[in-house]
Amino acid sequence: MIPKNHPRYNSLMQRHLIEEGIHKGITSMQGLIAQGRGETFDYLLKEKTSKYAEEAIHATAALLLLSIKPVISVNGNTTVLCSKELVELSNELKCSIEVNLFYRTKKREKLIEKEFLKFNKKILGAGKKIRLKGLTSNRGLVDVKGIYCADTVLVMLEDGDRTESLIKAGKKVIAVDLNPLSRTAQKASISITDNVLRVIPLLIKEIKKLKKKKTSELIKIVLKYNNEKNLINSINLLKKGI
Ligand code: ATP
Ligand code: MG
Repeated sequence: MIPKNHPRYNSLMQRHLIEEGIHKGITSMQGLIAQGRGETFDYLLKEKTSKYAEEAIHATAALLLLSIKPVISVNGNTTVLCSKELVELSNELKCSIEVNLFYRTKKREKLIEKEFLKFNKKILGAGKKIRLKGLTSNRGLVDVKGIYCADTVLVMLEDGDRTESLIKAGKKVIAVDLNPLSRTAQKASISITDNVLRVIPLLIKEIKKLKKKKTSELIKIVLKYNNEKNLINSINLLKKGI
């Protein structure tokens, strides 16, 4: 048991959840390595949400509210870290959640589907799929009722190749990635440089707030946001952390 007053309690708890995910067969070994990379960046960010991440979350909330068909894409890591919060987010947006795995097996898909059913959410992606043009790996397999026809896709701890092909397919991509230098962060329409565990509750709060705004105000928020500038600010913040 990790004592609650441990200075790095959240990070250690997260590591514990990923380890459990490996034992249950939900998370892949590569997911464990991704966790290690994430912890390094989070350490440099002092495990806090920066004002730049807050700006990106603000724009994300507006973009999601403007989207006709947003879809939340989940993998093994996000499932064990924050499935409950992601269900709350999907209910708030009345949108689908779809499982998308690089190391895809029927068993892992079903295990992830079961985790979401615990919160009464039937997710997409565990059944019949078709291939999204331009991506030959398993990640190119998408649900016709989900990512295939989505206009905006929220991805977390994502691979750069898929982000790029989603953008090429004409979709807006919102990425949650602690590494602002990753291809995912560099290619996404909006990149939130922060820990997914902190981001999702903040995003739900922001969506509840922005729901009261007029469409024209939401459009203004999205147009005002500059992802390139935001990434530079986040990279400079990481440098300060060193
Ligand atoms: P890319 O393919 O985009 O160039 P990559 O190959 O380094 O990036 P992937 O394994 O494809 O990385 O995706 C994992 C990413 O998720 C890493 O950048 C890692 O820092 C980040 N990450 C890990 N844990 C978290 C977390 N809890 N919250 C947000 N991001 C995280
Ligand atoms: Mg990658």
